[in-house]
Amino acid sequence: MITFEAYVPSIYINGRWNSASSRKKTPVRNPATWDILTHVSYGDDIDTKNAIEAASSAQKQWASLSPRKRSSILYKANQLMKEEEDRLAAILTMEQGKPLREAKGEIKSAASFLLWYAEEANRLYGEWIPSSIESKRLSVIPQPVGVVGAITPWNFPASMITRKVAPALAAGCAVVLKPASETPLTAIEIVKILEKAGVPDGVVNLVTGNSAKIGNALLHHEDVRLITFTGSTEVGKHLMRESADQVKKLSLELGGHAPIIVFADADLDQAAEMTLASKFRNSGQTCICANRVYVEADIWDEFKQVLVEKVEAMRLGDGLAEEVDMGPLINEGATEKVHEQVKDALAKGAEIACGGNLWEGTGKGHYYLPTVLSGVNNDMLVMNEETFGPILPLQSFTSEEDAINAANDSEYGLAAYFFTNNLDRSVRVAEKLDYGIIGINDVFPAVAEAPFGGIKQSGFGKEGGHHGIHEYVELKYISMGIK
Ligand code: NAP
Repeated sequence: MITFEAYVPSIYINGRWNSASSRKKTPVRNPATWDILTHVSYGDDIDTKNAIEAASSAQKQWASLSPRKRSSILYKANQLMKEEEDRLAAILTMEQGKPLREAKGEIKSAASFLLWYAEEANRLYGEWIPSSIESKRLSVIPQPVGVVGAITPWNFPASMITRKVAPALAAGCAVVLKPASETPLTAIEIVKILEKAGVPDGVVNLVTGNSAKIGNALLHHEDVRLITFTGSTEVGKHLMRESADQVKKLSLELGGHAPIIVFADADLDQAAEMTLASKFRNSGQTCICANRVYVEADIWDEFKQVLVEKVEAMRLGDGLAEEVDMGPLINEGATEKVHEQVKDALAKGAEIACGGNLWEGTGKGHYYLPTVLSGVNNDMLVMNEETFGPILPLQSFTSEEDAINAANDSEYGLAAYFFTNNLDRSVRVAEKLDYGIIGINDVFPAVAEAPFGGIKQSGFGKEGGHHGIHEYVELKYISMGIK
């Protein structure tokens, strides 16, 4: 059982934890019980300015190290994170709510970004361009952007951090990290791992607290050259507007509204298992989780029945308990939003196949029953707004073209999935879906070695893969005249 001191300092600037007891503090709660786990520091614009200046002073020296040296620190951090997997997973579940099994999966995934970018640090190649003029030699070199402001959400409190910090460090950038207010404890642990792995003072800084003040300080300090953000489309738009004044580089991983299409030629058991895994993982609080499911009319009854049986068998509870399939939602606002979508759908003609209500749960935690809705139409909130909760709306279709059109009818463009055993259809549909990520007979596309990112109002920029490190570099073109 992990216990915390009454106050855990969470502001780390220039290699020092600011532990002054006079600091303003804020509670961290366990969403499963709503108990207060501890308090952390509540930082502001002044802390952020100090952190940016520390990062700015440290960045050039960090960038001047050989990639191999930066890489060796990331390798070490990967190893330390793997050694600490069980403890980190327990902390993550305690502040975020997901079942321990999922939290361990997330820590593994977070560690995999450290490993991947330890490797990529050594492969950040430039380019030699054959010149059209004999007396010139043309080349392109990648150089670190400089200081990075990294803002992360609560739904994946570990992997969303390493997915940004690892490529930033590999590229030679320094970072000011602002994690979500709900999940600072995992962020503190990650920064401690980086510290222990040998990241020099000032290269990684952590500021928790007032998001508007911290965000403003990052947006308006000249030394911050890139803001990398994962979170809601609403906050992403705000960052885009405000960063225009200084023409800062941006990388935005925003909300989603993923469709799943189940064709009649699919392996239905696999499609049902994966649809549930996609929808109810992290209680539906995943940017790429299924938000709406289109089922071919020929298999509608059979598929719906299999889904409902499986959903009714799901066990809810505190993520730390054994045998729990789904934990709480993050807070009361989250259950309210989910319930509003259910009520709206019912008022507009939907039917509840199972679930459809709050669950009393454990302690004062906020739970919602895993829910399947049928008879949904496109006027309903659930078919348009990101749900971020455990509702699965089902709609039927009769032609491939109709399914594609319905799937594409969204302002979001993060992930889309479909199930089929027809090879021609796989290619056709994948090419026609307007999304940054496509899963064919697969709902877990997020891996360190592949580029993750959306289009349309789901943002721009890629995280993961060899592509991910390019967000953190500028390409400098060098034209050399020779005699
Ligand atoms: P959020 O409310 O947008 O918050 C995300 C982060 O932004 C938090 O650290 C938050 O701080 C901070 N923030 C809020 N207002 C800010 C401001 N004015 N200036 C600067 N920072 C500000 O999103 P969330 O509720 O944490 O996360 C859920 C959202 O993230 C969903 O929409 C989900 O789809 C999206 N998401 C996307 C991806 C992806 O890869 N595309 C991955 C995961 C999640 P506080 O917590 O202190 O308010």
